[in-house]
Amino acid sequence: MPSGTVYLVGAGPGNPGLLTLRAKELIEQADVLVYDYLVHPKLLHFVKDGCETIYVGKQAGFHSMKQEDIQKLLVEKSEAGKSVVRLKGGDPYIFGRGSEEARQLIDAGIDFEVVPGVTAASGAGAFSGTPLTERNTNSTLVVVTGHEDPEKESTMVDWANLPKKNSTICIYMGVGQLPRIAGELLKGGFAKTLPVACVEWATMGHQRVCRGNLETIVEDAKAFELKAPSIIIIGETAGMTENLSWFEKKPLQGRRLVVTRSQGQASELSQKLEALGAEVIGLPLINITRNVDVETAEDVFSEIASYDWLVFSSPNGVRYFFEAFFERFKDIRSLGFIRIATVGKATAKEVERFFVSVDLIPDEANADSLGDALVKTDSLDSSKVLIVSGNLGRDSLIAKLDEARAIVDKFEVYKTEANDLSENPDAKRFREQGADAIIFTSSSGVTSFMNQAKDLALGADAIRPKTASIGPITSAMMKQQHMPVDFEAKEASLESLVERIVENLGK
Ligand code: SAH
Repeated sequence: MPSGTVYLVGAGPGNPGLLTLRAKELIEQADVLVYDYLVHPKLLHFVKDGCETIYVGKQAGFHSMKQEDIQKLLVEKSEAGKSVVRLKGGDPYIFGRGSEEARQLIDAGIDFEVVPGVTAASGAGAFSGTPLTERNTNSTLVVVTGHEDPEKESTMVDWANLPKKNSTICIYMGVGQLPRIAGELLKGGFAKTLPVACVEWATMGHQRVCRGNLETIVEDAKAFELKAPSIIIIGETAGMTENLSWFEKKPLQGRRLVVTRSQGQASELSQKLEALGAEVIGLPLINITRNVDVETAEDVFSEIASYDWLVFSSPNGVRYFFEAFFERFKDIRSLGFIRIATVGKATAKEVERFFVSVDLIPDEANADSLGDALVKTDSLDSSKVLIVSGNLGRDSLIAKLDEARAIVDKFEVYKTEANDLSENPDAKRFREQGADAIIFTSSSGVTSFMNQAKDLALGADAIRPKTASIGPITSAMMKQQHMPVDFEAKEASLESLVERIVENLGK
């Protein structure tokens, strides 16, 4: 990527899966990322270390940064030799002022590229089951703004003369102006019975659709408390949705769920919940970094083949252990005939990525059960056990093994620290909007949540979340921290947890 170029990039309508490959590639390489209100916080996770991220968001009624200042910023950063990605909601050239920014760049002699995005109307159509064209009924598609520059002398939109027959009208920025617009359309001769679908937060887990017809929609939208951002779709196809709507049928669609995770870690749980239609806020409570003491590593690796058991208590442990292992050895056989135990299936999966199979996984994924299962193998008396873990204690496991007369060494390969959430966009969304539930998958997740409680205090309008727990150990910690446990998974597994969430919060 040549330095000093500005990329005007469409981020799509919100759902992170609708980002283009080119957009993702550019975000990953950017030195500076300048982004808007409608850009999903998840996209910020793609940036490289050291990328400067600048929020210039615009929300109706309040501007974080004036358009001129945004343009100055783009010029300034690119003149400093940086690769700048200007990430905008939807498509930059559809009500995105992308062309104004491009012209400014031309004037400043700066190279630029424009990357189109899935525009909100397209996302709203697909995710609400409203085709924007239809061979027999809708052959014209109109994309129109409901909110023109208030400083303009006369309005440019001739509502009364928009095509009335066989057309679909998609209105952007129209929520505040809906009564006036509907009035003008009716006055202009649009049929009162023409179906209307207003799609709020299209393509997102919390998408809502308000349906009516041109005569009723003003009242319908009021009763529905329709808010921006919404796309208003008017036309025959807006009434055809019964069998075409698929997104709203997902069991968790409309639910906002919070999962706790470590910085930079994509969560399997989030993916499962999103696949069921939920909007997931991933709170990066902790930061996990490799932390291998050189001398300890030397001690461990110089006699690695003499251990009888290698025990992993988390996927992170596996990752950092093998990273250090392969820095020292070229061949997996240097592990010797060691037996391997993991605390649960997720950790085992991580081991299997190295084409090494796991000999023991306890029925329940916790340190106590792992200790019991190891003791039951009857192989511990004077055998050498290496426990690979983070800086947070596995003392109960060590005590159990000691009791069974094993010789236990502990090898710490990573450390866990609290993350600063005051400026974090996911945390901000949680504070402002709240959630339907917050899901805990470990007792350490509970403690880090409580440790950061002051950065997570909910605002007055936020939805108060229920609490879900993956199993008895996590629940015990929640109770200890005076937190209610509204529901708990039947078995301590992600599958069972997801099932329980659907039972309690699903449609
Ligand atoms: N460039 C953007 C549009 C920006 S104008 C695009 O191509 O989509 C902002 C308007 O876009 C909002 O007022 C709303 O009408 C619409 N919009 C953007 N994202 C939306 C979403 N997820 N759901 C519904 N409408 C959305």
